[in-house]
Amino acid sequence: MANMESLQKAVENKSAEDVLRLTCAHFTAGRVAFASSLGAEDQVITHILRTLFPDVGIFTIDTGCLPQASYSLMRATEKRYGFRYDVLVPDAVAVGELIDQHGPEFFYKSIELRKACCYARKVSPLQKKLATLDAWITGLRQGQAATRAHVLPVERDDGNGLIKINPLAAWSLEDVWGFIRAHEVPYNTLHDAGYPSIGCAPCTRAVEPGADVRSGRWWWEAPEHKECGLHNRPNKG
Ligand code: SF4
Repeated sequence: MANMESLQKAVENKSAEDVLRLTCAHFTAGRVAFASSLGAEDQVITHILRTLFPDVGIFTIDTGCLPQASYSLMRATEKRYGFRYDVLVPDAVAVGELIDQHGPEFFYKSIELRKACCYARKVSPLQKKLATLDAWITGLRQGQAATRAHVLPVERDDGNGLIKINPLAAWSLEDVWGFIRAHEVPYNTLHDAGYPSIGCAPCTRAVEPGADVRSGRWWWEAPEHKECGLHNRPNKG
């Protein structure tokens, strides 16, 4: 593929569609895929991929703890765009051992145990999938969180040893919802109930209007801890 610097220059100030066009062309079919967590940004990318780049696979992780609304969205999205998600699931033994040792809601007990849960249910299945790819596409935006302020449209993912494509890196939240409304893209109904960011049911709650979009995720932790490890070097905890 082209050198990273020239690729980054080529996608500067380009639309999400052009970022995908210019980057995906460098990878063999089947070696680039989109990781959807069913968030609003992910629904935008799903729409673009299914409309313009239907050969790019879309996978999602079923942690076993998703809210019912997320499972409903999964079915609605498959129906609307005529495809099936590649659904990744955690290793049942790894999750079972954590529950045996620490109890069913062990992830509330400490940051280390919360990260161990995220590792077993999300990071580990993701790593197995990423080992089959040369590049992955994500819905990360710079404005989503303090930890995401430096996200670029295309960048090296040194932690996972591949290329990461973030076509919505420079989008605002307003851009995301404008696109969803303009194209009638299906979205999680929990967004209408005050949930700006949605993960596993026990670790997500509604927030007051105008609050930080990630403040309803792991609300008992400080902002700098609020990553599950999917987008940084995994912390086995
Ligand atoms: S978000 Fe919560 S339930 Fe889901 S994997 Fe992480 S700690 Fe476990």
